[in-house]
Amino acid sequence: MQIPFDNSYARLPERFFAPAEPLQSPSPALVRVNRALAGELGIDAGWLESAAGLEVLSGRAIAEGSQPIAQAYAGHQFGNFVHQLGDGRAILLGEVVDRDGRRRDIQLKGAGRTAFSRGGDGRAALGPVLREYLVSEAMAALGIPTTRALAAVTTGEPVIRDALLPGAMLTRIASSHIRVGTFQYFAARGDAEALRLLTEHVLARHYPEAVGAANPYRALLDAVISAQASLVARWLLVGFIHGVMNTDNMSIAGETIDYGPCAFMDAYDAATVFSSIDRMGRYAYGNQPRMAHWNLTRLAEALLSLIDEDQDAAVEQAQDALAAFNATFEPAYIGGLRRKIGLASEDEADGELINTLLTRMSENQVDFTLLFRALGAAASGEDEPARALFIDPTAFDSWAIDWRARLARDGQSPDARRAAMDSVNPAFIPRNHRVEAMIEAAVERQDFAPFHRMVDVLARPFEDQPDAADLAQPPLPHERVAATFC
Ligand code: AMP
Ligand code: MG
Ligand code: MG
Repeated sequence: MQIPFDNSYARLPERFFAPAEPLQSPSPALVRVNRALAGELGIDAGWLESAAGLEVLSGRAIAEGSQPIAQAYAGHQFGNFVHQLGDGRAILLGEVVDRDGRRRDIQLKGAGRTAFSRGGDGRAALGPVLREYLVSEAMAALGIPTTRALAAVTTGEPVIRDALLPGAMLTRIASSHIRVGTFQYFAARGDAEALRLLTEHVLARHYPEAVGAANPYRALLDAVISAQASLVARWLLVGFIHGVMNTDNMSIAGETIDYGPCAFMDAYDAATVFSSIDRMGRYAYGNQPRMAHWNLTRLAEALLSLIDEDQDAAVEQAQDALAAFNATFEPAYIGGLRRKIGLASEDEADGELINTLLTRMSENQVDFTLLFRALGAAASGEDEPARALFIDPTAFDSWAIDWRARLARDGQSPDARRAAMDSVNPAFIPRNHRVEAMIEAAVERQDFAPFHRMVDVLARPFEDQPDAADLAQPPLPHERVAATFC
Protein backbone atom coordinates (compact mmCIF):
# COMPACT_ATOMS: atom_id res chain seq x y z
CA MET A 1 0.00 0.00 0.00
CA GLN A 2 1.39 3.43 -0.94
CA ILE A 3 -0.68 4.91 1.87
CA PRO A 4 -0.79 2.67 4.96
CA PHE A 5 -4.53 2.98 5.56
CA ASP A 6 -6.12 1.70 8.75
CA ASN A 7 -9.70 2.95 8.81
CA SER A 8 -11.48 2.95 12.15
CA TYR A 9 -14.33 5.40 11.49
CA ALA A 10 -15.58 3.31 8.59
CA ARG A 11 -15.97 0.42 11.04
CA LEU A 12 -18.59 2.36 13.01
CA PRO A 13 -22.26 1.64 12.18
CA GLU A 14 -23.50 2.64 8.74
CA ARG A 15 -25.55 5.54 10.03
CA PHE A 16 -22.35 7.42 10.91
CA PHE A 17 -21.52 8.07 7.27
CA ALA A 18 -22.42 7.50 3.65
CA PRO A 19 -20.15 5.85 1.10
CA ALA A 20 -18.80 8.42 -1.33
CA GLU A 21 -17.04 8.45 -4.64
CA PRO A 22 -14.53 11.19 -5.44
CA LEU A 23 -15.08 13.19 -8.59
CA GLN A 24 -12.51 12.49 -11.26
CA SER A 25 -10.64 15.64 -12.18
CA PRO A 26 -10.45 15.85 -15.98
CA SER A 27 -6.91 17.22 -16.23
CA PRO A 28 -5.31 17.57 -12.82
CA ALA A 29 -2.05 19.36 -12.07
CA LEU A 30 -0.07 19.29 -8.88
CA VAL A 31 0.35 22.57 -7.03
CA ARG A 32 2.28 21.36 -4.02
CA VAL A 33 2.95 18.36 -1.84
CA ASN A 34 3.87 18.88 1.80
CA ARG A 35 6.93 16.66 1.84
CA ALA A 36 7.67 16.94 5.57
CA LEU A 37 4.09 16.04 6.47
CA ALA A 38 4.08 13.13 4.02
CA GLY A 39 7.14 11.80 5.85
CA GLU A 40 5.38 12.09 9.21
CA LEU A 41 2.49 10.08 7.82
CA GLY A 42 4.68 7.35 6.41
CA ILE A 43 3.84 8.25 2.81
CA ASP A 44 6.55 8.56 0.19
CA ALA A 45 6.50 12.20 -0.95
CA GLY A 46 8.12 11.22 -4.26
CA TRP A 47 5.22 8.90 -4.95
CA LEU A 48 2.67 11.61 -4.05
CA GLU A 49 4.40 13.88 -6.57
CA SER A 50 4.40 11.19 -9.26
CA ALA A 51 1.70 10.67 -11.87
CA ALA A 52 0.28 7.83 -9.75
CA GLY A 53 0.15 10.06 -6.66
CA LEU A 54 -1.59 12.81 -8.62
CA GLU A 55 -4.28 10.32 -9.64
CA VAL A 56 -5.14 9.83 -5.95
CA LEU A 57 -4.82 13.51 -4.96
CA SER A 58 -7.21 14.49 -7.75
CA GLY A 59 -9.88 11.85 -7.11
CA ARG A 60 -9.12 9.91 -10.29
CA ALA A 61 -7.95 6.80 -8.48
CA ILE A 62 -8.87 5.25 -5.14
CA ALA A 63 -5.68 4.30 -3.33
CA GLU A 64 -5.38 0.73 -2.13
CA GLY A 65 -6.86 0.47 1.38
CA SER A 66 -8.95 3.64 1.08
CA GLN A 67 -12.67 3.46 1.96
CA PRO A 68 -14.10 6.79 0.81
CA ILE A 69 -16.94 8.03 2.98
CA ALA A 70 -18.73 11.27 3.79
CA GLN A 71 -19.26 11.78 7.53
CA ALA A 72 -22.65 12.71 8.96
CA TYR A 73 -22.97 15.68 11.27
CA ALA A 74 -25.36 18.44 12.26
CA GLY A 75 -24.60 21.88 13.63
CA HIS A 76 -25.61 25.32 14.75
CA GLN A 77 -24.86 27.73 11.94
CA PHE A 78 -24.76 31.32 13.22
CA GLY A 79 -26.95 30.19 16.12
CA ASN A 80 -29.53 28.20 14.13
CA PHE A 81 -29.67 24.43 14.42
CA VAL A 82 -29.51 22.40 11.19
CA HIS A 83 -30.19 18.75 11.94
CA GLN A 84 -28.27 17.46 8.94
CA LEU A 85 -25.16 18.94 7.41
CA GLY A 86 -22.40 16.38 6.88
CA ASP A 87 -19.47 16.30 4.47
CA GLY A 88 -20.97 17.97 1.43
CA ARG A 89 -17.70 18.83 -0.24
CA ALA A 90 -15.19 16.59 1.46
CA ILE A 91 -14.57 12.87 1.38
CA LEU A 92 -12.71 10.95 4.06
CA LEU A 93 -10.33 8.64 2.19
CA GLY A 94 -9.28 6.86 5.35
CA GLU A 95 -6.88 7.00 8.28
CA VAL A 96 -3.20 6.28 8.83
CA VAL A 97 -1.25 5.83 12.02
CA ASP A 98 1.66 8.26 11.81
CA ARG A 99 5.31 7.87 12.79
CA ASP A 100 4.47 8.92 16.36
CA GLY A 101 1.64 6.42 16.65
CA ARG A 102 -1.08 9.04 16.25
CA ARG A 103 -4.10 8.22 14.11
CA ARG A 104 -4.71 10.85 11.39
CA ASP A 105 -7.52 11.32 8.87
CA ILE A 106 -6.81 11.85 5.19
CA GLN A 107 -9.58 13.81 3.55
CA LEU A 108 -10.07 15.08 0.04
CA LYS A 109 -11.80 18.46 0.08
CA GLY A 110 -13.55 19.61 -3.08
CA ALA A 111 -13.94 16.08 -4.46
CA GLY A 112 -17.52 16.47 -5.65
CA ARG A 113 -21.00 15.75 -4.42
CA THR A 114 -21.83 13.35 -1.60
CA ALA A 115 -25.04 12.22 0.09
CA PHE A 116 -24.76 15.40 2.21
CA SER A 117 -24.25 17.98 -0.53
CA ARG A 118 -27.84 19.26 -0.55
CA GLY A 119 -27.87 21.96 -3.26
CA GLY A 120 -24.09 22.33 -3.38
CA ASP A 121 -21.71 21.15 -6.08
CA GLY A 122 -19.22 19.57 -3.68
CA ARG A 123 -16.40 21.44 -5.34
CA ALA A 124 -13.76 23.85 -4.16
CA ALA A 125 -12.30 26.83 -5.94
CA LEU A 126 -8.55 27.34 -6.13
CA GLY A 127 -8.48 30.48 -3.95
CA PRO A 128 -9.97 28.91 -0.80
CA VAL A 129 -7.84 25.79 -1.30
CA LEU A 130 -4.65 27.86 -1.39
CA ARG A 131 -5.80 29.94 1.58
CA GLU A 132 -6.50 26.83 3.65
CA TYR A 133 -3.19 25.24 2.67
CA LEU A 134 -1.22 28.36 3.54
CA VAL A 135 -3.03 29.38 6.72
CA SER A 136 -3.32 25.89 8.22
CA GLU A 137 0.38 25.29 7.65
CA ALA A 138 1.20 28.73 9.10
CA MET A 139 -0.88 27.89 12.19
CA ALA A 140 1.00 24.60 12.59
CA ALA A 141 4.32 26.46 12.40
CA LEU A 142 3.03 28.88 15.05
CA GLY A 143 2.52 25.85 17.27
CA ILE A 144 -1.27 26.00 17.26
CA PRO A 145 -3.28 22.75 17.05
CA THR A 146 -4.70 22.56 13.55
CA THR A 147 -5.61 20.38 10.62
CA ARG A 148 -2.80 20.21 8.09
CA ALA A 149 -2.44 20.40 4.34
CA LEU A 150 -0.81 17.43 2.61
CA ALA A 151 -1.35 18.54 -0.98
CA ALA A 152 -3.15 20.91 -3.31
CA VAL A 153 -4.01 20.18 -6.93
CA THR A 154 -5.95 21.96 -9.63
CA THR A 155 -8.64 19.88 -11.32
CA GLY A 156 -8.62 21.42 -14.78
CA GLU A 157 -12.35 22.04 -14.45
CA PRO A 158 -13.97 25.36 -13.59
CA VAL A 159 -16.32 25.77 -10.64
CA ILE A 160 -19.29 28.08 -10.82
CA ARG A 161 -19.39 30.74 -8.12
CA ASP A 162 -20.20 34.41 -8.79
CA ALA A 163 -17.73 33.93 -11.61
CA LEU A 164 -16.17 30.86 -13.19
CA LEU A 165 -13.15 29.94 -11.09
CA PRO A 166 -10.47 27.31 -11.46
CA GLY A 167 -11.34 24.18 -9.47
CA ALA A 168 -8.99 22.59 -6.97
CA MET A 169 -8.78 19.88 -4.33
CA LEU A 170 -7.04 19.97 -0.99
CA THR A 171 -5.81 16.86 0.78
CA ARG A 172 -6.36 17.60 4.43
CA ILE A 173 -4.97 15.82 7.45
CA ALA A 174 -6.66 15.95 10.86
CA SER A 175 -6.46 14.08 14.14
CA SER A 176 -10.05 13.42 13.19
CA HIS A 177 -12.86 15.30 11.50
CA ILE A 178 -15.28 14.58 14.33
CA ARG A 179 -17.05 17.76 15.36
CA VAL A 180 -19.31 19.09 18.09
CA GLY A 181 -21.91 18.78 15.34
CA THR A 182 -21.28 15.04 15.05
CA PHE A 183 -22.59 14.62 18.60
CA GLN A 184 -25.47 16.98 17.90
CA TYR A 185 -26.43 14.88 14.88
CA PHE A 186 -27.10 11.79 16.98
CA ALA A 187 -28.50 13.69 19.96
CA ALA A 188 -31.10 15.33 17.70
CA ARG A 189 -32.17 11.85 16.61
CA GLY A 190 -32.32 10.54 20.17
CA ASP A 191 -29.76 7.89 19.19
CA ALA A 192 -28.17 7.09 22.56
CA GLU A 193 -26.41 4.01 21.21
CA ALA A 194 -24.60 6.09 18.56
CA LEU A 195 -23.61 8.68 21.17
CA ARG A 196 -22.18 5.90 23.30
CA LEU A 197 -20.15 4.47 20.40
CA LEU A 198 -19.00 7.90 19.29
CA THR A 199 -17.90 8.79 22.82
CA GLU A 200 -15.92 5.55 23.08
CA HIS A 201 -14.31 6.20 19.70
CA VAL A 202 -13.37 9.79 20.59
CA LEU A 203 -11.97 8.99 24.03
CA ALA A 204 -9.82 6.16 22.69
CA ARG A 205 -8.62 8.29 19.81
CA HIS A 206 -8.13 11.75 21.33
CA TYR A 207 -8.29 11.49 25.09
CA PRO A 208 -6.84 8.08 26.00
CA GLU A 209 -6.11 9.31 29.53
CA ALA A 210 -9.89 9.50 30.06
CA VAL A 211 -10.61 5.95 28.87
CA GLY A 212 -12.09 4.01 31.76
CA ALA A 213 -13.40 7.13 33.49
CA ALA A 214 -16.34 6.44 35.82
CA ASN A 215 -18.48 8.75 33.69
CA PRO A 216 -17.12 8.75 30.12
CA TYR A 217 -19.57 11.44 28.93
CA ARG A 218 -18.52 13.87 31.64
CA ALA A 219 -14.88 12.98 30.98
CA LEU A 220 -15.34 13.71 27.29
CA LEU A 221 -17.02 17.03 28.01
CA ASP A 222 -14.23 18.05 30.39
CA ALA A 223 -11.54 17.10 27.88
CA VAL A 224 -13.11 18.93 24.95
CA ILE A 225 -13.79 22.05 27.04
CA SER A 226 -10.18 22.14 28.14
CA ALA A 227 -8.84 21.59 24.60
CA GLN A 228 -11.09 24.25 23.08
CA ALA A 229 -10.43 26.81 25.80
CA SER A 230 -6.69 26.58 25.31
CA LEU A 231 -7.09 26.56 21.53
CA VAL A 232 -9.07 29.79 21.47
CA ALA A 233 -6.56 31.43 23.83
CA ARG A 234 -3.85 30.56 21.34
CA TRP A 235 -5.87 32.04 18.49
CA LEU A 236 -6.16 35.33 20.36
CA LEU A 237 -2.44 35.40 21.09
CA VAL A 238 -1.58 35.49 17.38
CA GLY A 239 -4.53 37.62 16.23
CA PHE A 240 -6.34 34.79 14.44
CA ILE A 241 -10.01 35.13 13.55
CA HIS A 242 -11.62 31.85 12.48
CA GLY A 243 -14.61 33.54 10.90
CA VAL A 244 -17.17 30.69 11.02
CA MET A 245 -17.16 29.15 14.48
CA ASN A 246 -20.33 27.17 13.88
CA THR A 247 -20.62 23.98 15.95
CA ASP A 248 -19.99 21.93 12.81
CA ASN A 249 -16.64 23.69 12.48
CA MET A 250 -15.50 22.89 16.06
CA SER A 251 -13.22 19.89 16.20
CA ILE A 252 -13.73 17.43 19.06
CA ALA A 253 -9.95 16.99 19.12
CA GLY A 254 -9.42 20.71 19.75
CA GLU A 255 -7.76 21.47 16.42
CA THR A 256 -8.43 24.53 14.31
CA ILE A 257 -10.58 23.19 11.47
CA ASP A 258 -12.51 24.34 8.40
CA TYR A 259 -10.56 27.37 7.30
CA GLY A 260 -13.01 29.48 5.37
CA PRO A 261 -13.02 33.26 5.47
CA CYS A 262 -10.46 33.21 8.26
CA ALA A 263 -7.95 36.02 8.66
CA PHE A 264 -5.33 37.51 10.92
CA MET A 265 -5.87 40.89 12.47
CA ASP A 266 -3.49 43.68 11.49
CA ALA A 267 -4.24 46.68 13.76
CA TYR A 268 -5.46 45.56 17.17
CA ASP A 269 -9.22 45.90 17.57
CA ALA A 270 -11.26 43.31 19.43
CA ALA A 271 -14.27 43.98 17.18
CA THR A 272 -12.40 42.94 14.03
CA VAL A 273 -14.44 40.82 11.58
CA PHE A 274 -13.35 39.88 8.07
CA SER A 275 -15.79 37.19 7.06
CA SER A 276 -18.27 38.43 4.47
CA ILE A 277 -20.91 36.05 5.85
CA ASP A 278 -20.56 37.23 9.46
CA ARG A 279 -22.73 40.32 9.12
CA MET A 280 -23.51 40.63 12.84
CA GLY A 281 -19.93 40.20 14.01
CA ARG A 282 -20.91 37.07 15.94
CA TYR A 283 -17.45 35.63 15.38
CA ALA A 284 -15.43 38.83 15.80
CA TYR A 285 -11.89 38.43 17.19
CA GLY A 286 -12.83 39.30 20.77
CA ASN A 287 -16.05 37.25 20.75
CA GLN A 288 -14.28 33.99 20.04
CA PRO A 289 -13.96 32.81 23.67
CA ARG A 290 -17.64 33.50 24.31
CA MET A 291 -18.66 31.70 21.12
CA ALA A 292 -16.48 28.70 21.94
CA HIS A 293 -18.22 28.52 25.31
CA TRP A 294 -21.59 28.76 23.57
CA ASN A 295 -20.63 25.90 21.25
CA LEU A 296 -19.43 23.79 24.17
CA THR A 297 -22.75 24.39 25.89
CA ARG A 298 -24.36 22.80 22.81
CA LEU A 299 -22.00 19.82 23.22
CA ALA A 300 -23.03 19.54 26.86
CA GLU A 301 -26.70 19.52 25.80
CA ALA A 302 -26.03 16.75 23.31
CA LEU A 303 -24.49 14.62 26.07
CA LEU A 304 -26.95 15.56 28.80
CA SER A 305 -29.16 12.47 28.69
CA LEU A 306 -26.06 10.28 29.01
CA ILE A 307 -24.22 12.20 31.71
CA ASP A 308 -26.80 11.25 34.31
CA GLU A 309 -30.22 9.59 34.17
CA ASP A 310 -31.38 12.24 36.61
CA GLN A 311 -31.56 15.31 34.39
CA ASP A 312 -31.20 17.81 37.24
CA ALA A 313 -28.00 16.09 38.27
CA ALA A 314 -26.85 16.05 34.63
CA VAL A 315 -27.46 19.78 34.27
CA GLU A 316 -25.47 20.42 37.40
CA GLN A 317 -22.57 18.33 36.06
CA ALA A 318 -22.68 20.13 32.73
CA GLN A 319 -22.61 23.49 34.47
CA ASP A 320 -19.60 22.44 36.52
CA ALA A 321 -17.83 21.29 33.39
CA LEU A 322 -18.63 24.52 31.52
CA ALA A 323 -17.47 26.65 34.43
CA ALA A 324 -14.01 25.19 33.86
CA PHE A 325 -13.84 26.89 30.46
CA ASN A 326 -12.79 30.20 31.99
CA ALA A 327 -10.55 28.43 34.46
CA THR A 328 -8.57 27.13 31.48
CA PHE A 329 -8.99 30.03 29.10
CA GLU A 330 -8.05 32.93 31.39
CA PRO A 331 -4.66 31.64 32.58
CA ALA A 332 -3.84 30.44 29.06
CA TYR A 333 -4.65 33.84 27.61
CA ILE A 334 -3.12 36.02 30.34
CA GLY A 335 -0.16 33.67 30.67
CA GLY A 336 0.42 33.89 26.93
CA LEU A 337 0.27 37.69 26.99
CA ARG A 338 2.64 37.72 29.94
CA ARG A 339 5.17 35.79 27.87
CA LYS A 340 4.53 38.10 24.91
CA ILE A 341 5.56 41.12 26.98
CA GLY A 342 8.62 39.33 28.28
CA LEU A 343 7.59 38.19 31.74
CA ALA A 344 8.56 34.83 33.17
CA SER A 345 7.09 35.46 36.62
CA GLU A 346 3.52 36.22 37.69
CA ASP A 347 2.28 39.29 39.49
CA GLU A 348 -1.31 40.15 40.35
CA ALA A 349 -1.05 43.52 38.61
CA ASP A 350 0.05 41.95 35.29
CA GLY A 351 -3.53 41.81 34.03
CA GLU A 352 -3.86 45.56 34.38
CA LEU A 353 -0.49 46.20 32.75
CA ILE A 354 -1.52 44.04 29.80
CA ASN A 355 -4.99 45.57 29.51
CA THR A 356 -3.55 49.06 29.49
CA LEU A 357 -1.27 48.09 26.63
CA LEU A 358 -4.12 46.51 24.65
CA THR A 359 -6.35 49.53 25.21
CA ARG A 360 -3.66 51.88 23.97
CA MET A 361 -2.92 49.63 21.00
CA SER A 362 -6.57 49.74 20.10
CA GLU A 363 -6.79 53.53 20.49
CA ASN A 364 -3.65 53.99 18.39
CA GLN A 365 -4.43 51.40 15.67
CA VAL A 366 -1.25 49.57 16.46
CA ASP A 367 -0.33 46.52 14.42
CA PHE A 368 -0.71 43.54 16.76
CA THR A 369 2.07 41.38 15.33
CA LEU A 370 4.65 44.11 14.76
CA LEU A 371 4.18 45.59 18.22
CA PHE A 372 4.81 42.40 20.14
CA ARG A 373 7.76 41.55 17.94
CA ALA A 374 9.14 45.06 18.50
CA LEU A 375 8.78 44.69 22.27
CA GLY A 376 11.70 42.27 22.13
CA ALA A 377 14.01 45.12 21.15
CA ALA A 378 12.26 47.58 23.46
CA ALA A 379 12.91 45.29 26.42
CA SER A 380 16.59 45.99 25.89
CA GLY A 381 16.10 49.74 25.49
CA GLU A 382 15.56 50.06 21.74
CA ASP A 383 12.13 51.70 21.89
CA GLU A 384 11.78 53.42 18.57
CA PRO A 385 10.40 50.51 16.48
CA ALA A 386 7.68 49.89 19.09
CA ARG A 387 6.70 53.49 19.84
CA ALA A 388 6.64 54.41 16.14
CA LEU A 389 3.70 52.01 15.70
CA PHE A 390 1.46 54.26 17.85
CA ILE A 391 -0.38 57.24 16.39
CA ASP A 392 0.64 58.97 19.59
CA PRO A 393 4.02 57.47 20.60
CA THR A 394 3.77 58.95 24.10
CA ALA A 395 0.97 56.44 24.73
CA PHE A 396 3.70 53.81 24.49
CA ASP A 397 6.26 55.80 26.48
CA SER A 398 4.10 56.17 29.56
CA TRP A 399 3.09 52.49 29.47
CA ALA A 400 6.74 51.49 29.02
CA ILE A 401 7.67 53.16 32.32
CA ASP A 402 5.42 50.74 34.23
CA TRP A 403 6.46 47.85 31.98
CA ARG A 404 10.16 48.40 32.63
CA ALA A 405 9.59 48.65 36.36
CA ARG A 406 7.87 45.26 36.13
CA LEU A 407 10.61 43.77 33.94
CA ALA A 408 13.17 44.88 36.54
CA ARG A 409 11.35 42.76 39.13
CA ASP A 410 11.06 39.79 36.77
CA GLY A 411 14.71 38.85 36.96
CA GLN A 412 15.51 37.29 33.57
CA SER A 413 18.74 38.12 31.75
CA PRO A 414 18.17 40.42 28.76
CA ASP A 415 19.37 37.74 26.32
CA ALA A 416 17.15 35.03 27.75
CA ARG A 417 14.20 37.40 27.73
CA ARG A 418 14.76 38.44 24.14
CA ALA A 419 15.02 34.82 23.00
CA ALA A 420 11.88 33.89 24.94
CA MET A 421 9.95 36.84 23.48
CA ASP A 422 11.06 36.09 19.92
CA SER A 423 9.92 32.50 20.34
CA VAL A 424 6.32 33.53 21.12
CA ASN A 425 5.98 36.75 19.09
CA PRO A 426 6.03 35.83 15.40
CA ALA A 427 7.64 38.09 12.85
CA PHE A 428 5.41 36.57 10.18
CA ILE A 429 1.71 35.82 10.05
CA PRO A 430 -0.32 35.25 6.88
CA ARG A 431 -1.13 38.89 6.25
CA ASN A 432 -4.55 39.13 4.73
CA HIS A 433 -3.62 41.50 1.92
CA ARG A 434 -0.72 39.24 0.97
CA VAL A 435 -2.95 36.17 1.05
CA GLU A 436 -5.42 37.91 -1.28
CA ALA A 437 -2.63 39.00 -3.62
CA MET A 438 -1.22 35.46 -3.60
CA ILE A 439 -4.65 34.07 -4.56
CA GLU A 440 -5.05 36.66 -7.29
CA ALA A 441 -1.67 35.76 -8.81
CA ALA A 442 -2.59 32.07 -8.88
CA VAL A 443 -6.16 32.49 -10.11
CA GLU A 444 -5.68 35.33 -12.60
CA ARG A 445 -2.17 34.65 -13.86
CA GLN A 446 -1.48 30.98 -13.01
CA ASP A 447 1.48 32.32 -11.04
CA PHE A 448 2.06 30.10 -8.02
CA ALA A 449 5.39 31.68 -7.02
CA PRO A 450 3.82 33.92 -4.32
CA PHE A 451 2.03 30.87 -2.86
CA HIS A 452 5.23 28.83 -2.63
CA ARG A 453 7.20 31.75 -1.24
CA MET A 454 4.64 32.46 1.47
CA VAL A 455 4.36 28.79 2.47
CA ASP A 456 8.15 28.63 2.82
CA VAL A 457 8.49 31.88 4.80
CA LEU A 458 5.57 31.07 7.11
CA ALA A 459 7.10 27.71 7.93
CA ARG A 460 9.59 29.69 10.09
CA PRO A 461 7.43 32.47 11.57
CA PHE A 462 9.64 33.22 14.56
CA GLU A 463 12.82 33.80 12.55
CA ASP A 464 13.75 37.19 11.18
CA GLN A 465 13.99 36.61 7.44
CA PRO A 466 15.38 39.81 5.94
CA ASP A 467 14.67 38.62 2.37
CA ALA A 468 10.98 38.42 3.24
CA ALA A 469 10.64 41.74 5.08
CA ASP A 470 7.85 42.73 2.67
CA LEU A 471 5.71 39.83 3.95
CA ALA A 472 5.98 41.11 7.52
CA GLN A 473 4.54 44.53 6.71
CA PRO A 474 0.92 45.46 7.44
CA PRO A 475 -1.21 46.74 4.56
CA LEU A 476 -0.97 50.29 3.36
CA PRO A 477 -4.36 52.00 3.53
CA HIS A 478 -5.14 51.17 -0.11
CA GLU A 479 -4.07 47.53 0.39
CA ARG A 480 -6.40 46.86 3.31
CA VAL A 481 -8.75 43.92 2.80
CA ALA A 482 -12.22 44.70 4.12
CA ALA A 483 -13.82 41.29 3.72
CA THR A 484 -12.85 37.69 3.05
CA PHE A 485 -14.97 35.23 1.08
CA CYS A 486 -14.90 31.46 0.93
P1 AMP B 1 -18.77 25.25 6.06
O1 AMP B 1 -19.45 26.16 7.03
O2 AMP B 1 -18.21 25.95 4.88
O3 AMP B 1 -17.75 24.40 6.72
O4 AMP B 1 -19.89 24.28 5.46
C1 AMP B 1 -21.14 24.06 6.04
C2 AMP B 1 -21.86 22.92 5.36
O5 AMP B 1 -22.08 23.20 3.96
C3 AMP B 1 -21.11 21.60 5.39
O6 AMP B 1 -22.07 20.59 5.53
C4 AMP B 1 -20.47 21.55 4.03
O7 AMP B 1 -20.19 20.23 3.64
C5 AMP B 1 -21.53 22.19 3.15
N1 AMP B 1 -20.97 22.79 1.94
C6 AMP B 1 -20.23 23.93 1.85
N2 AMP B 1 -19.89 24.18 0.57
C7 AMP B 1 -20.41 23.19 -0.18
C8 AMP B 1 -20.41 22.89 -1.58
N3 AMP B 1 -19.80 23.65 -2.48
N4 AMP B 1 -21.07 21.78 -1.97
C9 AMP B 1 -21.71 20.99 -1.08
N5 AMP B 1 -21.74 21.22 0.23
C10 AMP B 1 -21.11 22.30 0.69
MG1 MG C 1 -24.47 5.10 5.79
MG1 MG D 1 -17.45 23.14 7.87
